[in-house]
Amino acid sequence: MPQKRDRKIPHGKFVLPETAHPAFLKACHYLGLKAVIVPVGEDKRADPLAMQDAITGSTILLVCSAPCYPYGVVDPVGDIGRIARKHNLLFHVDACMGGFMLPFLEELGYPVPGFDFRIPGVTSISMDAHKYGYSPKGVSIILYKNRKLRRKQFFVHADWSGGIFASTTFMGTKSGGPLAGCWAVMNHLGREGYRTIAHQVMKTTAGIMEGIEKHKSLHIIGRPDMSVVAFTSDNEDIFNIGDALSSKGWHLDRLQFPDALHLTVTALNIGKEEEFLTDLNEVMENEPSLNQEYRATKSSVKIVRALTKILPGAVIDKFARKAGIVINSGGNDSKVPQAALYGISASFKNRKSVNKLIMNLLDGMYR
Ligand SMILES: *Cc1c(COP(=O)(O)O)cnc(C)c1O
Repeated sequence: MPQKRDRKIPHGKFVLPETAHPAFLKACHYLGLKAVIVPVGEDKRADPLAMQDAITGSTILLVCSAPCYPYGVVDPVGDIGRIARKHNLLFHVDACMGGFMLPFLEELGYPVPGFDFRIPGVTSISMDAHKYGYSPKGVSIILYKNRKLRRKQFFVHADWSGGIFASTTFMGTKSGGPLAGCWAVMNHLGREGYRTIAHQVMKTTAGIMEGIEKHKSLHIIGRPDMSVVAFTSDNEDIFNIGDALSSKGWHLDRLQFPDALHLTVTALNIGKEEEFLTDLNEVMENEPSLNQEYRATKSSVKIVRALTKILPGAVIDKFARKAGIVINSGGNDSKVPQAALYGISASFKNRKSVNKLIMNLLDGMYR
């Protein structure tokens, strides 16, 4: 009997936790596949049983992360691997964040959950050289469990009038520049270099986490397995804290559902924990809920929220389209507080309106 994973299944489905990177949805979008998104557990890790329940006859791939981008937690790869084997499915571990950290943390003696090919069931792994590999963008890595799987990525067309055509990657013509850059960085740092950086990054992360947790109103989400940390607040608007930190030169990412700030601690941040915490403490002491910018943001978000409740959907869509054009023509105005953008986005009950808004933003940039 042919292996299920070798059969071509029309409209095949991916099963992935909600914390998996949108790159998988983008792949589905391009390849005509369908993504089945499964909620994660309380601890923000993928829920293996929920994933198993989502498997149907047309499922072709299970996905999880090591760790996931939003909360820095490694999904239970072993449990999902067992399910993949039981159902004879491909199983991809996205180690884009952890690929150049977790192996070195393991060597250093940190408790690292299993995530690689030593875990039965894992058939492919991705890792980003441009993150903790400290290399230029454009040389990310995909590893396959065996050659048979890898050959499926290769493409050959020997009968072309332009000559024999062969290509190993999704991208056709590639630049050698980033490749050379990556080779140079890897040779420069070596295993020892990566290990040393990983150790110092973890020390800085621990310091930052401790400092965040000293604030009673701030909470770290989940229990991060490495140096990717998200935190939220129960009484302040966390995005206003983010904007206040931005004005001090700290550029944290914004998360939603729930609203949170997000740090990826890297070599660039080593030893900067005191500096960051001093600024965070200052921001917290200044009670952002009382400052003027906060009030302006809050009231504009309130107005939009009220409008979305009373206006019909078609009008909201039209607004989303207009807002896209307006925000766009403002150009690169970094002064538009992100708290307002996210606040307005959160007030759209119909997420399609947000999609439309962002789509129009992109479209406008290519005008
Ligand atoms: C960054 C990242 C990706 C892909 O990122 P690109 O940089 O856009 O290629 C995929 N998965 C995770 C977990 C990531 O952090």
